[in-house]
Amino acid sequence: MRIAALRGPETWEVEEAPVPSIEPDEVLVRVVVSGVCASELEQWQTGPPAGEVRYLGHEVSGVVVEIGAEVTAPAVGDRVGVWVTERGFAEYVAVRAAYCFPAGDGPLDEALAEPIACSANAVEAAGVRLGDDVVVIGAGFMGNLVQRLAALRGPRQLIVADARADALRRAARLGATRTVDVTKESLPDVVRSLTGGTGADITFECTGTQRALTVCGDTTRMSGTIAIVGFHQGADRTIPLAYWNWMAFTLVNAHFRDLAVIMRGMSVGMRLLAGGVLSMDGLISHRFPLEEINAAFTTLREKPEGFVKAVVTFPEA
Ligand SMILES: [Zn+2]
Repeated sequence: MRIAALRGPETWEVEEAPVPSIEPDEVLVRVVVSGVCASELEQWQTGPPAGEVRYLGHEVSGVVVEIGAEVTAPAVGDRVGVWVTERGFAEYVAVRAAYCFPAGDGPLDEALAEPIACSANAVEAAGVRLGDDVVVIGAGFMGNLVQRLAALRGPRQLIVADARADALRRAARLGATRTVDVTKESLPDVVRSLTGGTGADITFECTGTQRALTVCGDTTRMSGTIAIVGFHQGADRTIPLAYWNWMAFTLVNAHFRDLAVIMRGMSVGMRLLAGGVLSMDGLISHRFPLEEINAAFTTLREKPEGFVKAVVTFPEA
């Protein structure tokens, strides 16, 4: 089979490798789509340590083609979103049966279980309640997912901020009650004016930037919740803790490492997707064959007009 190996800075090479053999509790999945994740961008840009190689790819869905001796579900032929931590940019992955979730009848290239799980867990951890005023900062792929899932909780207002006009148009189409172009308007001013001066019940930070993090303190009401969904890497972040402390914010770190929590998020998210409650329609904007995986990562870095999410696809033969 073919698999992409990261061999240097911005250097993917597609290699031949044996199809993985499966353990009794595993299944073999023929990969249909593998999402390119913002959390992988830095590794791609810096490359592995000299002489080493990395196999990335953790947002995988596909079709079960073989099952281990102890596996009762899924069955051969089932369409699944799966949880793997690496080696997803390949034609086949071996996965624990317990880490496979039914993908329903929709397009498999939208059944990206891992980011759906993260977003579902973020919305659950933040505890959006009926009638809440919710702010989502960042209308990229994760922001869009958080917005859609938060909407299922029945907020009064869903205010979405970004600096990109195309992202804001998409957020409006996805049901934002108000979009804010932060290059033209002050988000805290808009939120205050829409909440009687108090601020939102919950702000989701979905950009991974210091700027957005800072703004959260000015969009959230006293005793409200700030949920950090963005992937914060690189330089240390600073927050005005005296003020945040005084405001009695609840801080939710929406980055999940506990396996049971990740599995629950996947189960919930894939149930919503397979049941047609969560739509991913329009969120996969760029598709690349494995041979063009470097272009897929370049596209994620450049974020051209209309960019939401890039995936590597393996068309059925
Ligand atoms: Zn990811």
